[in-house]
Amino acid sequence: MTAARPPSPALPSAAISAAAWDRAHAEVVETLRALIRIRSVNPPPPGAPDGELVAARAIAAVLEAAGLQPEVVEPFPGRGSVAARLRGDGSGGGALLLLSHLDVVPAPPDGWTHDPFAADVADGYVWGRGAVDMKQMVALEVAVVGILAAEARAAGRDPAIDPVPGLTRDVLFASTADEEAGGSEGAGWVVEHRPDWFRAAGALNECGGVATTVAGRRLYPIGVAEKGFEVVRVRVRGTWGHGSMPRPDNAAVLAAEAIRRLAESGGPRVTPVMSRFLEGAATVLPSEVARGLRALAAGDAAAGEAALDALCDPMYTRALRALVRDTISPDIVHAGVKYNVIPGEADLEIDCRVLPGTTGQAMLAEIVERLGPDLAATCDIEPVMSAPPVEASTDTPLYRLLEQTILDHDPDAVPLPVMVPFATDAKHTVKLDVPTYGFSPLRLAPDERFLERFHGVDERVGLDALRWGLPVLYDVVRRFCG
Ligand SMILES: [Zn+2]
Repeated sequence: MTAARPPSPALPSAAISAAAWDRAHAEVVETLRALIRIRSVNPPPPGAPDGELVAARAIAAVLEAAGLQPEVVEPFPGRGSVAARLRGDGSGGGALLLLSHLDVVPAPPDGWTHDPFAADVADGYVWGRGAVDMKQMVALEVAVVGILAAEARAAGRDPAIDPVPGLTRDVLFASTADEEAGGSEGAGWVVEHRPDWFRAAGALNECGGVATTVAGRRLYPIGVAEKGFEVVRVRVRGTWGHGSMPRPDNAAVLAAEAIRRLAESGGPRVTPVMSRFLEGAATVLPSEVARGLRALAAGDAAAGEAALDALCDPMYTRALRALVRDTISPDIVHAGVKYNVIPGEADLEIDCRVLPGTTGQAMLAEIVERLGPDLAATCDIEPVMSAPPVEASTDTPLYRLLEQTILDHDPDAVPLPVMVPFATDAKHTVKLDVPTYGFSPLRLAPDERFLERFHGVDERVGLDALRWGLPVLYDVVRRFCG
């Protein structure tokens, strides 16, 4: 790894002293630790039903102290969201939205080195649930908004009402509840009831801009697309009977075969975004890895996946495999009422993740096809929840600026557009036509297993990674809105 070079003096962040960046970094760490200690777990546990509201109010207090007038809403009991606006002079066009979510998934403490809600700082990391998903980005965004507000105050302006010097667009900050359960009580509610919180020329959100070291090269995948999902219930019908006389139409036996067929990997389909990602990564990675990536890009899944299996961390291969096909994961299986009663029905819930271009209808047809005529005839198939895939153009000034700013701060970087295999609140902002990019800039150490920290044990974020990310985010905001 080459040593970090100082960023270009032409960057807006260069006008701020290193000492001031160190102070801002210390505040990011304190904000992050305070947020981790607030158990904004989703679904809200009985003992702490209002964690998101407490978190929203804590952020509002920080923003108020910076001279802003944040707004906290609680459209459902305990489900708090918070927003604030910094003004530009309006000459630059639509606003830039800094979007994040306040909730985290549960964190049973088993297997953790540090208590998931203690926010310990140890070994160069802040530890805890939300450290990467995504309270670190909340803290970075709060800090950038705070710096801009301070710049307004230093110019004798009131940041709650006056334009910030040099800003030509508004900067919106919004941190919402409920992302981890689909967002209907957070970002989904905002779209319906407070679209002014989100209306923007572009948004920065989670899942992207994070250094991923492969074969010694630092790739920075920037999220420009997300797979959609279709949750489907499959009821397998068999025949009830006495367990002493087994029968082939035992619903559990039929369900086992249904699961086997559904879980088989489908054929690949490489979308334009993934083609660009694979080709872009192939140009900078060693030839044997590049061959695998190019085979995958060409739709030769067998050759591509075999090569990557041999060469890559399984964590990356698993992600890539999911990003070039529609996937089906049978995740809930229920059958049986008593040990000696043959079950007459079994219920499966399957998690289908669809690429841009695959409709819900097409996914249901695929399920029927995978089941085959014999099993499909014994199954009732019912969609229960869905969200379409989303895609933002890479041909926008904001996207180009994201790539450029990463390069300006890390000249060895390889920024690339990517799709992510899961859904975020971008599925809500897309309803307001806000191009939403996964961009929470972190320069991680080469051995960091970032993908495994999401919803995993020992979730943590490096102090150095945060220190790098703060001026990157500031520069993106200043340049896009300047
Ligand atoms: Zn998240």
